[in-house]
Amino acid sequence: MICRVSNVAAWSLALLALLVTAPSAMAADFKVEKHVVGETLGGRPIECNVYGDGDDVFWLIATIHGNEAAGTPLVAKFVEWLEKNPQEVEGRKIVIMPVANPDGFADNVRFNRNGVDLNRNFPAGNWGAADVKPHGATPLSEPESRVLMRVLCQYFPNRVVSIHQPLNCVDWDGPADKMAEAMAAKCKLPLNKLGSRPGSLGSFVGTTLGRPIITLELPAEAGMDGEVLWKEYGDALIAALHYKHEEPAAAKAPAQ
Ligand SMILES: [Zn+2]
Repeated sequence: MICRVSNVAAWSLALLALLVTAPSAMAADFKVEKHVVGETLGGRPIECNVYGDGDDVFWLIATIHGNEAAGTPLVAKFVEWLEKNPQEVEGRKIVIMPVANPDGFADNVRFNRNGVDLNRNFPAGNWGAADVKPHGATPLSEPESRVLMRVLCQYFPNRVVSIHQPLNCVDWDGPADKMAEAMAAKCKLPLNKLGSRPGSLGSFVGTTLGRPIITLELPAEAGMDGEVLWKEYGDALIAALHYKHEEPAAAKAPAQ
Protein backbone atom coordinates (compact mmCIF):
# COMPACT_ATOMS: atom_id res chain seq x y z
CA MET A 1 0.00 0.00 0.00
CA ILE A 2 2.72 2.47 0.97
CA CYS A 3 4.64 1.53 -2.13
CA ARG A 4 1.63 2.20 -4.41
CA VAL A 5 1.04 5.66 -2.91
CA SER A 6 4.64 6.72 -3.39
CA ASN A 7 4.53 5.52 -7.02
CA VAL A 8 1.52 7.72 -7.66
CA ALA A 9 3.30 10.65 -6.02
CA ALA A 10 6.38 10.07 -8.19
CA TRP A 11 4.30 9.97 -11.39
CA SER A 12 2.45 13.15 -10.38
CA LEU A 13 5.72 14.95 -9.82
CA ALA A 14 7.10 13.77 -13.18
CA LEU A 15 3.93 14.90 -14.96
CA LEU A 16 4.03 18.26 -13.21
CA ALA A 17 7.67 18.74 -14.22
CA LEU A 18 6.79 17.96 -17.84
CA LEU A 19 3.92 20.44 -17.86
CA VAL A 20 6.07 23.16 -16.36
CA THR A 21 9.08 22.69 -18.63
CA ALA A 22 7.47 21.80 -21.99
CA PRO A 23 6.26 25.27 -23.13
CA SER A 24 9.57 27.02 -22.45
CA ALA A 25 11.55 24.22 -24.11
CA MET A 26 9.38 24.62 -27.24
CA ALA A 27 9.63 28.41 -27.28
CA ALA A 28 13.42 28.28 -27.20
CA ASP A 29 13.60 25.85 -30.10
CA PHE A 30 14.55 28.38 -32.76
CA LYS A 31 16.74 31.41 -33.07
CA VAL A 32 15.02 34.80 -32.84
CA GLU A 33 16.75 38.06 -33.76
CA LYS A 34 14.98 41.33 -33.13
CA HIS A 35 16.54 44.24 -35.00
CA VAL A 36 15.88 47.92 -35.35
CA VAL A 37 16.94 48.29 -38.98
CA GLY A 38 16.40 52.00 -39.43
CA GLU A 39 14.56 55.13 -38.47
CA THR A 40 11.69 57.01 -40.06
CA LEU A 41 11.69 60.72 -40.92
CA GLY A 42 9.66 61.16 -37.73
CA GLY A 43 12.37 59.41 -35.65
CA ARG A 44 10.49 56.16 -35.10
CA PRO A 45 12.36 52.83 -35.14
CA ILE A 46 11.70 50.42 -38.00
CA GLU A 47 11.68 46.88 -36.65
CA CYS A 48 12.62 43.69 -38.40
CA ASN A 49 12.36 40.38 -36.55
CA VAL A 50 13.97 37.22 -37.88
CA TYR A 51 12.83 33.76 -36.80
CA GLY A 52 15.09 30.81 -37.51
CA ASP A 53 18.30 30.62 -39.51
CA GLY A 54 17.49 28.16 -42.31
CA ASP A 55 18.02 28.63 -46.04
CA ASP A 56 14.35 28.92 -47.07
CA VAL A 57 13.71 32.65 -46.64
CA PHE A 58 10.19 34.10 -46.38
CA TRP A 59 9.63 37.85 -45.99
CA LEU A 60 6.37 39.06 -44.46
CA ILE A 61 5.63 42.80 -44.42
CA ALA A 62 2.70 44.71 -42.99
CA THR A 63 1.58 48.32 -43.17
CA ILE A 64 3.83 49.87 -45.82
CA HIS A 65 0.75 52.04 -46.38
CA GLY A 66 0.18 53.47 -42.91
CA ASN A 67 -3.60 53.61 -43.11
CA GLU A 68 -3.89 49.96 -44.22
CA ALA A 69 -2.94 48.59 -40.82
CA ALA A 70 -4.89 45.32 -40.39
CA GLY A 71 -1.78 43.38 -41.44
CA THR A 72 0.01 44.42 -38.24
CA PRO A 73 -2.22 42.54 -35.74
CA LEU A 74 -2.47 39.66 -38.24
CA VAL A 75 1.33 39.39 -38.36
CA ALA A 76 1.45 39.44 -34.53
CA LYS A 77 -0.84 36.39 -34.51
CA PHE A 78 1.37 34.71 -37.11
CA VAL A 79 4.34 35.16 -34.74
CA GLU A 80 2.30 33.67 -31.86
CA TRP A 81 1.50 30.69 -34.09
CA LEU A 82 5.20 30.24 -34.94
CA GLU A 83 6.08 30.28 -31.24
CA LYS A 84 3.54 27.51 -30.62
CA ASN A 85 4.74 25.53 -33.65
CA PRO A 86 8.53 25.77 -33.57
CA GLN A 87 8.86 22.90 -36.06
CA GLU A 88 7.53 25.34 -38.71
CA VAL A 89 10.70 27.40 -38.36
CA GLU A 90 13.02 24.46 -39.04
CA GLY A 91 14.97 24.96 -42.28
CA ARG A 92 13.49 28.45 -42.68
CA LYS A 93 14.34 32.04 -42.02
CA ILE A 94 11.17 34.06 -41.55
CA VAL A 95 11.80 37.79 -41.80
CA ILE A 96 8.97 39.87 -40.40
CA MET A 97 8.45 43.63 -40.55
CA PRO A 98 5.28 44.26 -38.53
CA VAL A 99 5.09 47.98 -39.45
CA ALA A 100 7.02 49.01 -42.57
CA ASN A 101 5.80 52.63 -42.37
CA PRO A 102 5.70 53.54 -38.65
CA ASP A 103 5.06 57.28 -39.21
CA GLY A 104 2.18 56.55 -41.57
CA PHE A 105 0.83 54.02 -39.06
CA ALA A 106 0.99 56.59 -36.23
CA ASP A 107 -0.57 59.32 -38.41
CA ASN A 108 -3.08 56.97 -40.06
CA VAL A 109 -2.01 58.09 -43.54
CA ARG A 110 -0.80 56.19 -46.60
CA PHE A 111 2.43 58.15 -47.06
CA ASN A 112 5.62 58.87 -45.14
CA ARG A 113 6.33 62.30 -43.62
CA ASN A 114 7.55 63.60 -47.01
CA GLY A 115 4.17 62.73 -48.46
CA VAL A 116 5.75 59.96 -50.55
CA ASP A 117 4.07 56.63 -51.24
CA LEU A 118 6.79 54.19 -50.16
CA ASN A 119 5.19 51.49 -52.28
CA ARG A 120 5.91 53.59 -55.40
CA ASN A 121 9.50 54.44 -54.46
CA PHE A 122 11.33 51.26 -55.55
CA PRO A 123 13.73 51.15 -58.51
CA ALA A 124 11.52 48.96 -60.69
CA GLY A 125 11.64 49.50 -64.46
CA ASN A 126 8.21 51.14 -64.33
CA TRP A 127 9.11 53.72 -61.63
CA GLY A 128 7.53 57.09 -62.41
CA ALA A 129 5.50 55.64 -65.28
CA ALA A 130 2.35 57.19 -63.88
CA ASP A 131 1.97 60.47 -62.08
CA VAL A 132 -1.20 59.85 -60.12
CA LYS A 133 0.55 59.51 -56.75
CA PRO A 134 3.73 61.00 -55.33
CA HIS A 135 6.50 58.54 -56.07
CA GLY A 136 9.43 60.48 -54.59
CA ALA A 137 12.05 62.57 -56.39
CA THR A 138 13.99 59.46 -57.39
CA PRO A 139 13.67 55.73 -56.67
CA LEU A 140 14.71 55.08 -53.05
CA SER A 141 14.59 58.80 -52.24
CA GLU A 142 13.02 57.97 -48.86
CA PRO A 143 14.79 56.61 -45.78
CA GLU A 144 12.01 54.08 -45.16
CA SER A 145 12.19 52.58 -48.66
CA ARG A 146 15.99 52.43 -48.40
CA VAL A 147 15.60 50.42 -45.18
CA LEU A 148 13.23 48.00 -46.93
CA MET A 149 15.69 47.66 -49.80
CA ARG A 150 18.53 46.93 -47.38
CA VAL A 151 16.48 44.19 -45.67
CA LEU A 152 15.56 42.75 -49.08
CA CYS A 153 19.23 42.67 -50.18
CA GLN A 154 20.44 41.27 -46.86
CA TYR A 155 18.02 38.33 -46.69
CA PHE A 156 17.11 37.95 -50.39
CA PRO A 157 13.84 36.09 -49.72
CA ASN A 158 12.58 33.54 -52.21
CA ARG A 159 8.99 34.65 -51.60
CA VAL A 160 7.34 37.72 -50.15
CA VAL A 161 3.93 38.66 -48.77
CA SER A 162 3.06 42.32 -48.26
CA ILE A 163 -0.27 42.99 -46.55
CA HIS A 164 -2.47 45.89 -47.68
CA GLN A 165 -6.10 47.04 -47.71
CA PRO A 166 -8.82 47.60 -48.99
CA LEU A 167 -9.00 45.85 -52.38
CA ASN A 168 -10.19 42.50 -51.01
CA CYS A 169 -8.16 40.07 -53.12
CA VAL A 170 -4.97 38.05 -53.47
CA ASP A 171 -2.85 39.97 -56.00
CA TRP A 172 0.59 38.93 -57.20
CA ASP A 173 3.63 39.92 -59.22
CA GLY A 174 6.34 37.82 -60.75
CA PRO A 175 6.20 34.01 -60.81
CA ALA A 176 3.68 33.87 -57.96
CA ASP A 177 0.50 32.56 -59.62
CA LYS A 178 0.75 29.18 -57.86
CA MET A 179 1.55 30.83 -54.53
CA ALA A 180 -1.45 33.14 -54.98
CA GLU A 181 -3.67 30.15 -55.73
CA ALA A 182 -2.42 28.33 -52.62
CA MET A 183 -3.23 31.35 -50.45
CA ALA A 184 -6.62 32.09 -52.03
CA ALA A 185 -7.63 28.46 -51.47
CA LYS A 186 -7.24 29.03 -47.72
CA CYS A 187 -9.30 32.22 -47.32
CA LYS A 188 -12.29 34.00 -48.79
CA LEU A 189 -10.26 36.52 -50.81
CA PRO A 190 -10.54 35.97 -54.57
CA LEU A 191 -7.56 35.90 -56.90
CA ASN A 192 -7.26 39.18 -58.76
CA LYS A 193 -4.20 40.27 -60.72
CA LEU A 194 -4.39 44.03 -60.29
CA GLY A 195 -1.46 44.82 -62.59
CA SER A 196 1.98 46.13 -61.69
CA ARG A 197 1.94 49.50 -59.96
CA PRO A 198 4.80 51.86 -60.92
CA GLY A 199 7.74 51.62 -58.51
CA SER A 200 5.91 49.25 -56.17
CA LEU A 201 7.61 46.60 -54.08
CA GLY A 202 5.55 44.11 -56.13
CA SER A 203 6.98 45.45 -59.40
CA PHE A 204 10.52 45.44 -58.04
CA VAL A 205 10.53 41.99 -56.41
CA GLY A 206 8.22 40.32 -58.93
CA THR A 207 9.27 41.83 -62.25
CA THR A 208 12.77 43.23 -61.70
CA LEU A 209 14.06 40.42 -59.45
CA GLY A 210 11.76 37.70 -60.82
CA ARG A 211 10.76 36.40 -57.40
CA PRO A 212 7.23 35.59 -56.23
CA ILE A 213 5.49 38.35 -54.29
CA ILE A 214 1.91 38.47 -53.05
CA THR A 215 0.04 41.65 -52.29
CA LEU A 216 -2.54 40.43 -49.81
CA GLU A 217 -5.35 42.99 -50.04
CA LEU A 218 -7.61 42.66 -47.01
CA PRO A 219 -11.04 44.28 -47.10
CA ALA A 220 -11.61 47.81 -45.77
CA GLU A 221 -13.64 46.45 -42.87
CA ALA A 222 -11.01 43.87 -41.80
CA GLY A 223 -10.60 45.61 -38.41
CA MET A 224 -7.71 45.39 -35.98
CA ASP A 225 -8.77 42.37 -33.89
CA GLY A 226 -5.93 39.85 -34.23
CA GLU A 227 -8.13 36.87 -33.27
CA VAL A 228 -10.67 37.68 -35.98
CA LEU A 229 -7.99 38.38 -38.58
CA TRP A 230 -6.14 35.16 -37.77
CA LYS A 231 -9.33 33.13 -38.13
CA GLU A 232 -9.97 34.66 -41.56
CA TYR A 233 -6.45 34.86 -42.99
CA GLY A 234 -4.13 32.79 -40.80
CA ASP A 235 -4.35 29.70 -43.02
CA ALA A 236 -3.50 31.81 -46.09
CA LEU A 237 -0.31 33.04 -44.39
CA ILE A 238 0.55 29.47 -43.41
CA ALA A 239 0.04 28.44 -47.07
CA ALA A 240 2.51 31.18 -48.09
CA LEU A 241 5.00 29.92 -45.51
CA HIS A 242 4.65 26.35 -46.82
CA TYR A 243 4.82 27.34 -50.50
CA LYS A 244 7.94 26.10 -52.25
CA HIS A 245 9.01 28.14 -55.24
CA GLU A 246 10.89 26.24 -57.92
CA GLU A 247 13.30 28.43 -59.86
CA PRO A 248 13.00 27.95 -63.62
CA ALA A 249 15.62 25.49 -64.94
CA ALA A 250 17.42 28.24 -66.89
CA ALA A 251 17.83 30.33 -63.75
CA LYS A 252 19.43 27.40 -61.92
CA ALA A 253 22.09 26.76 -64.58
CA PRO A 254 25.52 28.16 -63.68
CA ALA A 255 26.67 31.12 -65.74
CA GLN A 256 29.03 30.18 -68.58
ZN1 LIG B 1 -1.75 49.60 -50.10
